[in-house]
Amino acid sequence: MRCELRTLHLTEPFHIAHGTSTERTVLRLSHDGVSAEAPFVPYYAESPGAAMAALSALHDPFDALPADAPRAARLAHDVLQHLLLARRAGVPLWQHLHLPDPNGRAACRSLGIPTDLGAYRQRVAEIARQFRVVKLKLGSGDPGHDLGIVRVAREAAPLATLIADANGGWTPTEAADLIPRLAALGLTMIEQPVAHGQGLAPWIELKAALPRPPIVVFADESVQTSADVPGMAPFVQGISVKLLKCGTIREALTMIRVSRDLGKQVLLSCMIESSLGIAVAGHLAGLADYIDLDGHLYLANDPGGGIKFDEQGCLHL
Ligand SMILES: [Mg+2]
Repeated sequence: MRCELRTLHLTEPFHIAHGTSTERTVLRLSHDGVSAEAPFVPYYAESPGAAMAALSALHDPFDALPADAPRAARLAHDVLQHLLLARRAGVPLWQHLHLPDPNGRAACRSLGIPTDLGAYRQRVAEIARQFRVVKLKLGSGDPGHDLGIVRVAREAAPLATLIADANGGWTPTEAADLIPRLAALGLTMIEQPVAHGQGLAPWIELKAALPRPPIVVFADESVQTSADVPGMAPFVQGISVKLLKCGTIREALTMIRVSRDLGKQVLLSCMIESSLGIAVAGHLAGLADYIDLDGHLYLANDPGGGIKFDEQGCLHL
């Protein structure tokens, strides 16, 4: 089993409420012609060296990893095992997992927080010619700028479905004020409006101030695994599922099942990572309402070989 670190460069700095980034490190595991990847993200602050050390101690891809190995190591290892089993069975991963065919499902394209709204208008119009769902990053620190972003996007793409992610960038009071105003501008969904670091407190406050939001509200950073979903259920209409967040393919499927059992919508998302890494989440896309798997489109040096979008913005593996 071969284990290596790769540096992926972004085409331009990506700005969201958590901060700005220009490159990402990913961990690539290969065995017998099959490769799996998992990214390191600033949000989890994990050591690539510790991940390499944990994986280098294994002799066989099906050996167990220590439970305290960094999440990128655990995910790459889990994915490699699944891909090897699917290849042995001679079928795509989605079929090996008995999931619906994800090919041809409409995906969305995300845009970071802009500074120049004129250039943003053109970019949104261009993206909306391919993708019918456009996801806007909000939480700029200036509620007026957030409103301007959605207003410009609506004008630039009058027929697109507009969804947004505040990445916890609003206080509950700001969120309760902004959500109805953004809905009036044509936004249909908002992800993680309030901060995730203080448990349910900001969500309780938001619900008290805005008991019936006019658009669907999703939790992302506030729900890391399936165990977090029931507690969040009274406060949201949807749950964001990411492989790196929940740790393994099985746990992602459990998180989707628990969310569905509680009547929630599901957004399947990814980090900024290569198309090879993202393709694994793509195999689960037949289970999702929103497919936000475009992290590789921010990269200048994506090695390719993974997920692709056609001229209508539909996913193909
Ligand atoms: Mg998010």
